[in-house]
Amino acid sequence: MAFYELRYSLSQEEVKAGDRVASTSLLVGEWIKGAFVASDYILRDIVYTVPVSALHLPVNNSEEHARISRYIDDKRKTLPHANGVGLNDKNCIMTHTPAIVGFDASNREWCRVPRNNPEIQTYVSNMFTSNMGELMVIQSRKFPGEEFSGLAGIGVNLKLFSTWLEKVSVGTHGVLAIIDRNGKMLARKPVEPETLGKAVNNPILKAFIDSGENYRMLRTISPFDQEPRLYGIRKVEGLPFVVVVGEADRDWQADWSQRAWLAAGALVILWSLAFYTLYIYWERLKSFAELRKVRDELEGLSLTDALTGLANRRCFNGVLEAECHRLRRIKAPISVIMLDVDFFKVFNDTYGHPAGDECLKLVAGVIQNQLKRPQDLAARYGGEEFCCILPETEHAGAIDIAMSIKDDIAGLRIRHEGSAIGDYVTVSVGVATLICDEDVNCETIVKMADERLYLAKKNGRNQVVSEAG
Ligand code: GH3
Ligand code: MG
Ligand code: MG
Repeated sequence: MAFYELRYSLSQEEVKAGDRVASTSLLVGEWIKGAFVASDYILRDIVYTVPVSALHLPVNNSEEHARISRYIDDKRKTLPHANGVGLNDKNCIMTHTPAIVGFDASNREWCRVPRNNPEIQTYVSNMFTSNMGELMVIQSRKFPGEEFSGLAGIGVNLKLFSTWLEKVSVGTHGVLAIIDRNGKMLARKPVEPETLGKAVNNPILKAFIDSGENYRMLRTISPFDQEPRLYGIRKVEGLPFVVVVGEADRDWQADWSQRAWLAAGALVILWSLAFYTLYIYWERLKSFAELRKVRDELEGLSLTDALTGLANRRCFNGVLEAECHRLRRIKAPISVIMLDVDFFKVFNDTYGHPAGDECLKLVAGVIQNQLKRPQDLAARYGGEEFCCILPETEHAGAIDIAMSIKDDIAGLRIRHEGSAIGDYVTVSVGVATLICDEDVNCETIVKMADERLYLAKKNGRNQVVSEAG
């Protein structure tokens, strides 16, 4: 989208540059025409004022000759670009001139061509270099009459062209040139003296001069300075001149390039921002996923029950195994107390789950309170089931603790109308003790305690069962 917009705007810039070179070449062409029309008026004045009979050598009347010489020189002064004005007779011999009277110009193009071509009344010669080393053309006009009876000519100094070119501008790296019909350089801006008067060897230009076209626009690389430019080349109507106006690509494209760079820059920034945002987002996602993984791992590794703060079942299993292993070597007893809150479902249903949670916390507190030794462990085994490990504890000692726990919980007097016993929260407890040796594995004792807990339930709850049924 942006790409097409840029391409379109580039073509628009080219159209505008094309308009500029066209109008500049037209302007310069019109100036040239204007100057030659002005000097042609002077020539007309002269050929209709000076009698043909005066074009005669040797001079009959020197006074008359001097007067005419003064007259034509006065006329010259009205033209800033005229080097001199002269008159030639029917043989092209110069009769009146600030240079050499009697000079035979019959083989000079500027006299020969009009003399040999009856249809030509006025003529501008090709460029030549004067005795003074200046680039010149001669503009001439025949004296009136059927036969060639002589002509008046003005030497036009081509510095004139340069002064015009100074007045127009075609950008920093542009070029302006006036070329004659032989392809010779008459004036150039920027000025390069070594090119003046020399042929411009450009086949496109040659082809254009030879063609019937008046104007052509083209993009090409200058044979002089290798600068790529957009050129407008225009023939000056009725005169042997071609105006060349070239605007350098880098000039007419400057604004556009700046815009293109800005657009490209903006695009790069936008893309970078987009990528950066995506990158940050992606990194966040990654770290979020990592955090979640770590949290899951930690959760898995955790040994504590979140609600009660007691050890969890995972911890319980680990400690039990470790203790069994340790006690096996010294063949010491180990006791397990397993307890379960009575009619806890009803409690939840009656008082709500949050109240149930509070109740579990209180129960846990009581259990923890009854375990005095650091090696004893109280754990939340399941929903409302708790389990204690009492290493190196005889059965009687374990029963005592179990009884205390049961009584303390009943003593909490947590209201429980659905409880069969006394309208308070109670627990049923199973106690088991084993001497650890090679034959016993630690799961057995949990199973035993569980069976006794079941018995306690069966026997009416709120009691401790310490023997197998
Ligand atoms: P029993 O006397 O036979 O043990 O009956 P019970 O209702 O206590 O036993 P049951 O296994 O039928 O129900 C246990 C209830 O404990 C069910 C469940 O909603 C509740 N429970 C388990 N874990 C939690 C907990 O973390 N918080 C709360 N509030 N309730 C729990
Ligand atoms: Mg239960
Ligand atoms: Mg229960």
